[in-house]
Amino acid sequence: MSASSSIEWTDATWNPVTGCTKISPGCKYCYALTFAERFRGVPGHPFEQGFDLRLWPDRLRLPLAWRRPRRIFVNSMSDLFHERVPDDFIQAVFDTMRDAWWHEFQVLTKRPDRMVDFVASHAREPLRYTHPNVWLGASVETQQYVGRARLVASLSSTVRFLSCEPLLGPLDLAEVLGGDAINWVIVGSESGHHARPMDAAWVRAIRDAGVPFFFKQWGGRNKKEAGRTLDRKTYDQMPQTV
Ligand code: SF4
Repeated sequence: MSASSSIEWTDATWNPVTGCTKISPGCKYCYALTFAERFRGVPGHPFEQGFDLRLWPDRLRLPLAWRRPRRIFVNSMSDLFHERVPDDFIQAVFDTMRDAWWHEFQVLTKRPDRMVDFVASHAREPLRYTHPNVWLGASVETQQYVGRARLVASLSSTVRFLSCEPLLGPLDLAEVLGGDAINWVIVGSESGHHARPMDAAWVRAIRDAGVPFFFKQWGGRNKKEAGRTLDRKTYDQMPQTV
């Protein structure tokens, strides 16, 4: 967790929950798991428990102390909608996001079914509505998980976004990227020793759908060298929020 972040599409990270369990192929080389497990058993370290799921109530109100407006990636080291995070804890996270109205919060999950249920029944707001500074998104890595995109498209948050990272195959997103059902897409490849390949044609197909597009990285073994340009251009588009 940090008041600043090296993740290209955000300014800061906030982790009121840490730890998670794998749910789909995109999790195979989860960077958060690899990082956290390095510190398992180190007394006093925030990841002393490794990647076991842990709630951090003392971090719940942290963004209120950050006075400068930022984009904040919620739970970069977990998944807020993991089945073991209690509803009232998720509600407390949403309450902070509402109270820290000067920030924009980016909530990204691989469990959008629970996100949709939560927003519908626990957000103390009308059905499908959430706070205007809260962006809701899902990870979609292969065609098999396009249903996650449909769930996000069913929400009425200011920003409904997809993170196609690591992109592991071609995606046919025509059904959800038409109109303004989804208003931001991030694409990136896996990085590190085990990085699985990503075909440029898969990326171009998503870019050309006409939705604000952020190309994060080519990844691979040397992420820095591989860079983040596509067809000699850097794609840093962000969603419209007004
Ligand atoms: S859902 Fe995200 S945080 Fe959880 S194991 Fe998968 S990649 Fe890691």
